[in-house]
Amino acid sequence: MNSEKNPIKDGQHKGAGTLSVESETALKNLSTMSAPQPKNRNDLTADQYTEGVLSGDRALLARAITLIESNAPRHLKIAQEVIGNILPRTGESIRVGITGVPGAGKSTFIDTLGNYLCEHNHRVAVLAVDPSSSISKGSIMGDKTRMEKLSRAENCFIRPSPSGGALGGVNRKTRESMLVCEAAGFDVILVETVGVGQSESMVSTMVDFFLLLTLTGAGDDLQNIKRGVIEMADAILINKADGNNRIVAERTQSELNQALHYLTPKLVGWETRAFCCSALKNEGIKEIWSTILDFKKHAQSSGAFLEKRQYQAQNWLVDLVSEEIKTQFFSHPTVAELLPDIQQKVIQGQIPVTTGAEELLNAFRKQTKQI
Ligand code: GDP
Repeated sequence: MNSEKNPIKDGQHKGAGTLSVESETALKNLSTMSAPQPKNRNDLTADQYTEGVLSGDRALLARAITLIESNAPRHLKIAQEVIGNILPRTGESIRVGITGVPGAGKSTFIDTLGNYLCEHNHRVAVLAVDPSSSISKGSIMGDKTRMEKLSRAENCFIRPSPSGGALGGVNRKTRESMLVCEAAGFDVILVETVGVGQSESMVSTMVDFFLLLTLTGAGDDLQNIKRGVIEMADAILINKADGNNRIVAERTQSELNQALHYLTPKLVGWETRAFCCSALKNEGIKEIWSTILDFKKHAQSSGAFLEKRQYQAQNWLVDLVSEEIKTQFFSHPTVAELLPDIQQKVIQGQIPVTTGAEELLNAFRKQTKQI
């Protein structure tokens, strides 16, 4: 078997299993209450969420994101209403994706950049995409102390990663979380992702500017080229360019710039370049921010900025429909019943994969009266 996600298994995993500590505590609290409480007494209406978000109420913004992250059908419905309500107040931020392998210094960099931006009257929201967190036990944003200074800044909102699992779900949740942050008045959205799996290519399709944080040595350059992430980047930042590492970092910068020169530009008239910074020592931060602003100006004047967002919205629509169809398909009882047997036959080489797929699809079509 390959390592692809098994939607059936994932679905089972979500529904079953042992209770989390939070659920257990909640249950205990519930059992000690004198009278049964009305179900969902804490649920707000879509209007209450909308008003809270639009007025910039952080607690309600956080709750709105929790609502968006919920998979419960009744939450999905309210979330859609909230998104519909706030839509006219979205789109005004600059969305920046930040990727890099664990240890590259992403959280240190976001901490430093975020503080720099807050000091310059920006309002900064930090979101994280970490679909690997179920494996790595939260390689990003798991620990609140990672962005210690920024988490105390008044103009900043930090949202830890939605729990690991299906990338598709994370995709929707992150996009919608970006929208509510914009509606709450945040004008810079930083989306952090780890350079593992598909998360970085997914994030690159939902932001205006994609920044790759890298290091000198340790075979990092080669890894980045292999992952194809260099082609996705609008700028490359060599972090930890301090102390003895500074000279090596500058050498890496000029080598990278020579290589990048031959890359086909993603945006006409924009050459992806490499820069050095020290997130720890707050060096090179101002320069990378002004590069991001130059990019925005350039893309806006050519019309590419808007075009990219329209293209992203169009792709998102297709993604959402595809995800929903996939979920419906794999959660259909007939498919769930047939799947193990067909999978076995395919694994044993008894039937071709195409035949197996066709059998499943036909069974599904028959049940849903498509044939
Ligand atoms: P992440 O996993 O990509 O989020 O990386 P972290 O921000 O947690 O940083 C990993 C380690 O590198 C930490 O020990 C940081 O203190 C250190 N670090 C981050 N940025 C710099 C830097 O600019 N210079 C130096 N010397 N160390 C840094």
